Amino acid sequence: KQSTRNNPGFGAFVSVRGAREHNLKDIDVDIPRDALVVFSGVSGSGKSSLAFGTLFAEAQRRYLESLSPYARRLIDQVGVPDVDAIDGLPPAVALQQQRGTPNVRSTVGSVTTLSSLLRMLYSRAGTYPPKQPMLYAEDFSPNTPQGACPNCHGLGYVYEVTERAMVPDPSLSIRDRAIASWPPAWHGQNLRDILVTLGYDVDVPWRDLPKKDRDWILYTEEQPVAPVYAGFTPAQTRAALRRKAEPSYMGTFTGARRYVLHTFATTQSALMKKRVARFMSGAPCPVCDGRRLKREALSVTFAGLDIGSLSRLSLNRIAEVLAPAASGRFDAPTKASTRSRAASAQDTAKRVAAGGSAHAGGTDVRRTPDLSEEKRIAAQRIAHDLVERIATLQALGLGYLAMDRTTPTLSPGELQRLRLATQIRSNLFGVVYVLDEPSAGLHPADSEALHRALDQLKDAGNSVFVVEHDLDMMRRADWLVDVGPDAGQNGGQILYSGPPDGLRAVAASHTGRYLFAADDAAAKQARTPRSPSGWLELRGLHRNNLHGLDARFPLGVFTAVTGVSGSGKSSLVSQALVELVGDHLGHEPPVEESDSGEPQPSEIAKTAGRIHSGADAIKRLVNVDQKPIGRTPRSNLATYTGLFDHVRKLFAGTPLAKSRRYNAGRFSFNVAQGRCETCEGEGFVQVELLFMPTVYAPCPTCHGSRYNAKTLEVVLNGRSIAEVLAMTVDEALAFFADEDAVRRPLTLLRDIGLGYLRLGQPATELSGGEAQRIKLATELQRSQHGNSLYVLDEPTTGLHPADVDKLMAQLHGLVDAGNTVIVVEHEMRVVADSDWVIDVGPGAGEDGGAIVASGTPQQVARAKASRTAPYLRRVLG
Ligand code: ADP
Ligand code: ADP
Ligand code: ZN
Ligand code: ZN
Repeated sequence: KQSTRNNPGFGAFVSVRGAREHNLKDIDVDIPRDALVVFSGVSGSGKSSLAFGTLFAEAQRRYLESLSPYARRLIDQVGVPDVDAIDGLPPAVALQQQRGTPNVRSTVGSVTTLSSLLRMLYSRAGTYPPKQPMLYAEDFSPNTPQGACPNCHGLGYVYEVTERAMVPDPSLSIRDRAIASWPPAWHGQNLRDILVTLGYDVDVPWRDLPKKDRDWILYTEEQPVAPVYAGFTPAQTRAALRRKAEPSYMGTFTGARRYVLHTFATTQSALMKKRVARFMSGAPCPVCDGRRLKREALSVTFAGLDIGSLSRLSLNRIAEVLAPAASGRFDAPTKASTRSRAASAQDTAKRVAAGGSAHAGGTDVRRTPDLSEEKRIAAQRIAHDLVERIATLQALGLGYLAMDRTTPTLSPGELQRLRLATQIRSNLFGVVYVLDEPSAGLHPADSEALHRALDQLKDAGNSVFVVEHDLDMMRRADWLVDVGPDAGQNGGQILYSGPPDGLRAVAASHTGRYLFAADDAAAKQARTPRSPSGWLELRGLHRNNLHGLDARFPLGVFTAVTGVSGSGKSSLVSQALVELVGDHLGHEPPVEESDSGEPQPSEIAKTAGRIHSGADAIKRLVNVDQKPIGRTPRSNLATYTGLFDHVRKLFAGTPLAKSRRYNAGRFSFNVAQGRCETCEGEGFVQVELLFMPTVYAPCPTCHGSRYNAKTLEVVLNGRSIAEVLAMTVDEALAFFADEDAVRRPLTLLRDIGLGYLRLGQPATELSGGEAQRIKLATELQRSQHGNSLYVLDEPTTGLHPADVDKLMAQLHGLVDAGNTVIVVEHEMRVVADSDWVIDVGPGAGEDGGAIVASGTPQQVARAKASRTAPYLRRVLG
């Protein structure tokens, strides 16, 4: 046991005794307060179990306990961390990466609370049209009934269902399914038969029907009820109507658009929803022009802009616009003063970055006639506050974000840094901040800002605990807690706890090997880059900050796309490239999903541009993204990869299952016979709390096993189906050693560093990086024919350098098999190990969007204008 308490230079310690959460092996550790502490170790070693599962969970438990007896009862349900004692633990705030997508209505402005300040600014100090009464702050919010545009209800866009979308081929007749948006099968035939009864011609080409008829069929809101003669020809139907013959049934007609909108709004089936979403398109609301607010609110201006237009600007621009007011200058803007203002906003950002205050010291106070003294004071105070807060965000490299950018379109790393900036402004002290890989998604050039932000939190008197894989962050830490040596059962021990340099002496640590590898430069053998088999050339790309970009990607090799955050890497790769190649291959356009996991009609923004050459060499496109593999706890690793099907068959084949006539379906927690009645196979129940996020507690009947007692009686080699789901991939590999069909996918999962995941781990508990690697493993299971294009956005997120090496081996294997791999990446070891590098930039947002350099890693490392080059040189040695 290390004696760390009498370490010089550190004050108070948090002492943990007997921690056994998850895989932790009854560990004792002392961690300094008021310091930057990094928890390191391979994925699955137990870092999070210690930092979040034990330290944060205990701090939260103590907080809950201080609240009320009701909360105490809740703790009993949620459970307490498995630890003997923790002393010296301050209250904690967790800044975890968001799992799954947050609310669609939440934006950069709402997460940072900048929006509410801005609304106050417009309400109190805006320029109103003559005779218009002053508005309340809520009148400037699109999320309140008072403020929302009445036409689009504050969404900014309206759904359109056009004839072109619903009837893609007007040369078809209705009988030949001209109306593609109609429901399939019986329901569609029913609608057609009703039209026959109503006297419409369903056998002429759609375009030959009178416009009046076409419009009625598509757009009517009426729902006439008519007799249907199933299986009759139109002539027979007419005769039957004349005879007043008994119809097969009475049918209700629904217009095609109404059907689409109604189904979209009400169906329980994700599949149906996805189907109808294809016929809907979002278009900017014509009434508010996409600005989401009612007319009165949009008529109020500040610095010449309405709040909707201002919110569309990047934070950098907003700071520029508000800077004069913030320093008490209210004169009309001139060209010259615009430039000096831009400079002063940057100065402010720099000063905040340097840890100072952001007081913009303007002196020349002039008054515009339409701002009263009272308004002027209010304006200056609020604008000043806004500029200061924005400066904190700029310092974290987020100035390129627009205020009204919705959070689902942000990367998890961007979102976490937004929250971090908000915390820096909160002036708390004596708190432990627990963060989860804050460097994810950050270019090394941007990490500087992150380090300064963490230092600021620390200097304000807080403890900063970070779970991190980034070697630079470890080097900068005051203290390192290395957990390991390996994942799951082979981890869970403290290998080292102390100042970073001491880890050098710990031979068992994988982290140490990478952290001090720089010492022997000879180990860095650059490999000879492969030669491309061809080129994919894209021309005239427009997307986000790409304006008419031409780009060429080598085929048959491994390419890394680099650039600072916000430079346009994802716009180029995950959007433009994926969409154009997908289109070329005839993929259906992707359907966006809403926060509840439901498909949404895709929004207007699409890539403009074209493929100039090279696409014919690509037979398949595989976009391995970080979107969740499912939004409910019902999908998990085992179901997603398909290996659960094999496992269930094995259970159904046991003698007991056979004698009871249990088939494979019995062993699914989604099927009524086999699963627990109480929780319907979820394993836990929701507990709703006032003022708190909903928490989940284990199901009182099955205690989380998800199955009913009868099902659990069936065992395979001594284990029940629930026990199999509780195994990690590594454990399952040993257990299913003789079952090829199960072993193969498990081996792939282990090989890309996921050996520590449990088979039944719900999709909702997986990080974006884990979801991405599961998708990759599932992909790797397919037989390889070559000529596929694999696109991955930051595949190393959440991976220890040792796991990155495993992942790279798999990706290089794909290239060796004749495929093309393109990754967006910040990890310089990966970039150095690629065949080709495309560096996007030079800056973020409108300062980016160009290709700064491309070539082999060696070539790009020498490029003058590239902000990546210096970091790449360091790794190439
Ligand atoms: P790290 O943060 O180092 O990647 P974790 O602390 O997340 O590792 O995981 C350590 C071990 O604990 C792994 O074997 C993992 O599968 C297991 N584990 C993580 N979360 C849970 C959980 N909710 N229930 C049971 N085991 C878990
Ligand atoms: P990177 O991948 O290099 O971090 P992105 O391609 O995500 O950069 O972003 C480039 C620019 O486009 C940034 O200014 C960003 O704010 C903007 N942008 C990216 N995605 C969206 C989106 N969905 N909506 C609006 N702007 C976006
Ligand atoms: Zn509107
Ligand atoms: Zn249950």
